[in-house]
Amino acid sequence: MELWQPDRVYFEADARNTVVGKRVKEYCLEKNIEMLETTSHNQVRNLPGEDEKAKYAAAKKTLIVGIKKSMKLEVCKPSADYQFSLMTNCPGSCEYCYLFTTQGKKPYVRVYGNLDELYNTIDQYIEKKLPHTTMFEAASTGDPLGVEHITGSLKDTIEHFSTLKSGKLRVVTKYAAVDPLLDINHNGNTRFRFSINSNYVIKNFEHNVDNLWDRLRAAEKMAKAGYPLGFLIAPIILHDGWKIEYKEMLEALHRHIGLQPNSFITFELIQHRFTMNAKNIIEERFPNTRLEMDPEKRQKKWGKYGRVKYVYEKHEAEEAKEYLTDLIKKYFPNGHIQYFT
Ligand code: SF4
Repeated sequence: MELWQPDRVYFEADARNTVVGKRVKEYCLEKNIEMLETTSHNQVRNLPGEDEKAKYAAAKKTLIVGIKKSMKLEVCKPSADYQFSLMTNCPGSCEYCYLFTTQGKKPYVRVYGNLDELYNTIDQYIEKKLPHTTMFEAASTGDPLGVEHITGSLKDTIEHFSTLKSGKLRVVTKYAAVDPLLDINHNGNTRFRFSINSNYVIKNFEHNVDNLWDRLRAAEKMAKAGYPLGFLIAPIILHDGWKIEYKEMLEALHRHIGLQPNSFITFELIQHRFTMNAKNIIEERFPNTRLEMDPEKRQKKWGKYGRVKYVYEKHEAEEAKEYLTDLIKKYFPNGHIQYFT
C-alpha cells in the first residue's frame, strides 16, 4: 500500500520547532501540503465535509502536530505496565477500531513533538520501579508506524529504549513500512508485534491499512533484524467459517515466521468487543457495516472508568480461546500466549 499522505497539516506554535515538528514541516514542503496553525491539538474546527461520513473522511486526512501536555502515564494491562502516546488516532479506518469509544468525536491524526520530555518521564517511571524491569506500550492510542515516514518518532523511541537497562518497549501495528527500523540499534529491547486477522475480517472491516501478506513480509524482515516478535490476533470475530480462516491465517504465519531462529514469539488474543458509544458512531460512519454488534447476543464486561463493553458469550469465548490455543501450540511450539481477553 502507498504510504499515507495528509491533505492538510496543523501545527501548534510550540510544536513547530521540535525535532518532529521540523521533520513534518520538511515533509509538507517536499509534498506541497497545506500548513495551518491551531491553538490546540484538541480543537481543530471547520474541517471540510457536508455530513458525518465526509467529515470523518476529511479528519482522517488531517494531521496535527502538537505538544503533549499531560506526562502522567496510564496503566496498560494486560499488555504492559504503562502506555505512552507518540500519537493519537491513526490513518487507518478499521470499522471495529477500539478508538471509537474514546476518540470518536476527534478522529483526526495527532502526533506529538515533545519527545525529550516524554523520554524523561519514561526514565523516571523506570527509576521508581527499580530493580524491576518496566514495560511500556507505544501503540494503545494509535498506530505509530502509520505515520513513521513523516515523523520518525518510532525510530527515535526504539533507539532511546535501546540504551535502557530496565525499560522495555512494545509496539503493535497493521502497517508494513518497517524498512527505516531495520538497521537501527534496538538492542532487543523492543518487541515488535503485528496485528493479524482472518481474511474475512481484513477484507470487510480493515481499510487504509496494509494487507496480511505485507504485514507477514514485514514481520519476517523484523525477525531477521533481530527484533523480538509478537502477534496480536485482534479482534477475534466469530464469523461464518471463522475456524477455517483463522487456521489458514496461522498456517500462513508459520510459513513466514516459523523457521526464524529467534522464534520465541508472543501471542495476544483479543476477542471483539464494543461499547454502545462506539456502536452508534460506527453505524453512523459505516452505515452498511457487516460488523455484528447486537448487545442481546453478547455478555457485558466492565472496563476502565466503569465503561460497559460487550464481548462474546462465555461459551463462545472459551471455544475461540481453546481452538486458537491448540493451533498456536501446533504451529509455534515455542510460542507464548500471553493472554486471551
Ligand atoms: Fe484503529 Fe488500529 Fe485500525 Fe488504526 S490500525 S484504525 S488504531 S484498529
